[in-house]
Formats: sequence, structure tokens, C-alpha cells
Amino acid sequence: MYNTIVVGAGQAGLSIGYYLKKTGRDYLILDMNQEIGQVWRERYDSLILFTSKQYSSLPGLTLEGDPNSLPTKDEISTYLKRYAEMYDLPVKLNTEVYQIKKTGKYFTISTNQLEYKAKNVIIATGPFQHPKIPVFAKNLSSDVLQLHSSEYRNPTQLIEGNVLVVGGGNSGAQIATEVSKERTTYLSTSQKLRYMPLHIGKRSMFWWFDKIGILSASSSSFLGKRIQKQGDPIFGNDLKEAIVEKNVKIVGRAFDAKGTTVFVKEQDQLKIQNVIWATGFKPDYEFLGTIEGVINHHGFPIHKRGISTIEGLFFLGLPWQHRRGSALLQGIGYDAKFLINHLRQ
Ligand SMILES: Cc1cc2nc3c(=O)[nH]c(=O)nc-3n(C[C@H](O)[C@H](O)[C@H](O)COP(=O)(O)OP(=O)(O)OC[C@H]3O[C@@H](n4cnc5c(N)ncnc54)[C@H](O)[C@@H]3O)c2cc1C
Repeated sequence: MYNTIVVGAGQAGLSIGYYLKKTGRDYLILDMNQEIGQVWRERYDSLILFTSKQYSSLPGLTLEGDPNSLPTKDEISTYLKRYAEMYDLPVKLNTEVYQIKKTGKYFTISTNQLEYKAKNVIIATGPFQHPKIPVFAKNLSSDVLQLHSSEYRNPTQLIEGNVLVVGGGNSGAQIATEVSKERTTYLSTSQKLRYMPLHIGKRSMFWWFDKIGILSASSSSFLGKRIQKQGDPIFGNDLKEAIVEKNVKIVGRAFDAKGTTVFVKEQDQLKIQNVIWATGFKPDYEFLGTIEGVINHHGFPIHKRGISTIEGLFFLGLPWQHRRGSALLQGIGYDAKFLINHLRQ
């Protein structure tokens, strides 16, 4: 019997692990991956973070290097591993949780290895679980190569011909810019793209966000609501240049497909050889299926700052769990500390 079981050893699970260690409680962090940092390691090769090093650190360990420079995804992967080692966090890898049940005051956590019992469970399985791909993708013929952004690594995976990237978020814009260096590239987006530089003067954009209160705005504040409504801009002038200089051709929202054709709004049809779906992710909390009233009908947790409706069950790392930074490296420590203070009480 453990006091607390944490599911997930990404930045969220490790941050709460750091604080749990300080409480002296008996706890364990379970993760189905083979190594810590694997989630970051498996993201596309050219990924460079939009948060500078100063804003990419977890509590208790500063990410080395110029605080205004931008880390690569592999630097973060290595950093997370070092973090777990430095604080000797009790992580059990290769352990997939497939069911969590509550009987009386205690939880039973079933995994592909052992069964565990705990008084508290903290779900830190990340906001990006399953690729979300539009239904019409299945109308495309097998002549078209389709990849979700989570499967994309680099342009060598593509077959000959043009590329349509669907989704105008940061991943979509970055991937489109990369492939446009060697291919005719379209970027399908339902909204007008807004751009923001990564630095102003010598300071990273996140330094300015911090100073003007964007990072500390809560989800229910006026500023927080406005930022949520607007969504993230595209970070980086290099992306803006590539897109505005028309290396990447912007097209409207993709809404249907047939054979090798994709239909996009305000445009005719595009004959396409490669499609990259940068269309986001779906949550997956199937392992909580036996616990009623904890997941809403859209599949998202019902909670207040990570505290669920079920005693002893918590979430960490949800987008806008409390602030913009809740699902970012910079903000996770703040939410983890809040949960620990709650658990202490
Ligand atoms: C392309 C991209 C770029 C990003 N850029 C930035 C950036 O610049 N700056 C920034 O701060 N953030 C960025 N993020 C966002 C964010 O930092 C990451 O998504 C981060 O990985 C989330 O951390 P997490 O710990 O919540 O989840 P994850 O890192 O996803 O970790 C969750 C862990 O839970 C484990 N797990 C899941 N289900 C189970 C289960 N059933 N049983 C056991 N283990 C399980 C997984 O194996 C995984 O190790 C980016 C995200 C993406 C996708």
C-alpha cells in the first residue's frame, strides 16, 4: 500500500515526484515508456522549443545554458532523465496502467506488471494521448502518404511529390516550413495565422510574457480568458518569413477528401501526394472507466485546479489546469506545488 501513486513520468509526474519526496511520503511513479524523456525524444527531429531555457526548467534544477536561448527537444529529454536521477525519484518504467478502481478509501491500480494499492492517485499522463485525425482522412487513397504530426520525424519519410499540412498551430507551421524547403507545400488552416517573434531585443518572448503578467494570468481571469479564446500565435519570425514569402501556400480549412484530392474551403481541390495531420490530440482516460463522475462527456477530467470530484484522485499537466503554463515546462512546478499543499492538508 502506497500513500500516493503517480501515473506518468513526464514533466508533470516528475515535478510532483520532486515535491512528494520532500513530504517523506511513500510513493511511486509508474510509466509505460522504456525511458524517461522518451515523449520528447520521439518528437520530430528539428523541434526546437518556443520557451527559452529560463522558462523550460522544473522546480529545483535549472536547465543549463544561456537563459534566453531555446532548447532542442533532445536537451529536454536528457534534462528530464537527469532530473529523475538527481532527486532519485522512484520511477517504475515499462509499467502501463490499464485500470484504476476505487474501493472504499483506497485505489487499486492494475498494470501490465503488478497491482498496486494507494490512498491517493495523481494522473500525469499528458495532454497529448491519441492523434486526432478528421474522419474524411479515410477517403484518401492508399497512394497518398498520411502521417499525424506525432509520427512525423523528418522529410525523408515522405514519398515523392507535394505536401499538405493540415492544422495551423505551431507544429503545423514548423513542419510546413521544414518540408517547404524541398517540396511544394500547402498549409491548411481555418484561422488567419498570427505570428510572434521568439525574442524581442535580447530577451525571449516568454521573459516579456512573464513581465506583463501573461504567465501568471489564471484561466478564469479576464486576461486568461482572452488568451484562451485567441489561442497561441505562431512563434518565430523564420516561420513567418517562410510562410509570408509564399514557400508555404496557405489554403482554407480542409473539409473532405476523395482519392488523391483534398477539398479545402475557398479553393477548389488539391491533388496531394503527402498529408501531415497537425490536427491535435484526443484525451484518453479509459483506465478510469469504473470511476463515475470524473470524466465529462467530451472525455476531459472534471476538476478544480487538478482536484477531481473523487477524494484522493488528482490530475496534473492539463492544458489551462490553472494558467497558460499548466501544460508547459515553465508552469508545471507551480501547479505541482499547489497539489502538494492540498495533499498536505
Ligand atoms: C510539438 C510540441 C512542442 C511543444 N513545445 C513546447 C515548448 O516549447 N515549451 C513547453 O514548455 N512545452 C511545449 N510543449 C508542451 C508540453 O511541454 C509537452 O506536451 C509535455 O510533454 C507534457 O508533459 P506531461 O508530463 O504532462 O506529459 P507527457 O510528457 O506526455 O508524459 C506523460 C507520461 O505518461 C505516460 N503514460 C501515459 N499513459 C500511461 C498509462 N496508462 N500508464 C503508464 N504511463 C502512462 C507516458 O508514457 C508519458 O511518459 C510542446 C508539445 C508538443 C507536442
